[in-house]
Amino acid sequence: MSGRTAPPGVLTVAGSDSGGGAGIQADLKTMLALGVHGMSVLTAVTAQNSLGVQGAWELPVEAVRAQYRSVVDDIGVRAVKTGMLSSAELVEAVADLIAGTDAPAVVDPVGVSKHGDPLLAASALDSVRTRLLPVATVATPNLDEVAQLTGVRATTEGDLRRAARAMLEFGPRWVVIKGGHLSGDAVDLLTDGGEEHWLRAPRHDNRHTHGTGCTLASAIASELAKGRTVPEAVTAAKAYVTGAIATGFPLGAGIGPVNHTW
Ligand code: PLP
Repeated sequence: MSGRTAPPGVLTVAGSDSGGGAGIQADLKTMLALGVHGMSVLTAVTAQNSLGVQGAWELPVEAVRAQYRSVVDDIGVRAVKTGMLSSAELVEAVADLIAGTDAPAVVDPVGVSKHGDPLLAASALDSVRTRLLPVATVATPNLDEVAQLTGVRATTEGDLRRAARAMLEFGPRWVVIKGGHLSGDAVDLLTDGGEEHWLRAPRHDNRHTHGTGCTLASAIASELAKGRTVPEAVTAAKAYVTGAIATGFPLGAGIGPVNHTW
């Protein structure tokens, strides 16, 4: 019998990207790279490649609950990450599961893919606001998701604080506003409404960025599972995703994935 002890367990609740660049696949690769034990609750299956999403199918809510219970009841989790949740029913079921789990939750409020494909029904936005964000330890919206959820459209670095305040109204303990879509340095703002951490990285001229958001949120969850504080976890995750973007590679005819093993 081996005397090894298990690495901390991290659970992603998200959709599958058949192309392996985003979603569950990016989450598990990130967790492997960061030395934690990755586990997955699948919410939806997408037929997807470097050109976009060709089809998406949700799993029944019972299948999502059963996967979650199987993992939590036996193996246990030190952090949870959520990604594509597809429908109001799934958002609400996952929010209830997280509320009953004694582990930090990183919520990536995924709305639309980089190609413009919807990954969340418009009818689910209110459930994200009122049910999922209140149970989040850290929420990681990009600027489009902030606009969709709060109506605040941030177009300059100076707007990030306003965007963060609007997001915090929904109740997450911390928020990371991802300013990567602005020009200049890739600047993110992490705040709990009191502390502010401005995270800055040089912009890499690389269009192969598929899976960036999933990777950042999974890296935060992985670092939290190792016992880091939220500011430490987000700082380490930002460094990891910056390397993954810098070394993203072409794949297929469209936008290639970030690189998890740089
Ligand atoms: N596909 C799935 C299943 C996802 O969960 C996500 C993002 O969360 C995406 C695609 C979008 O990836 P990107 O916007 O980085 O292309």
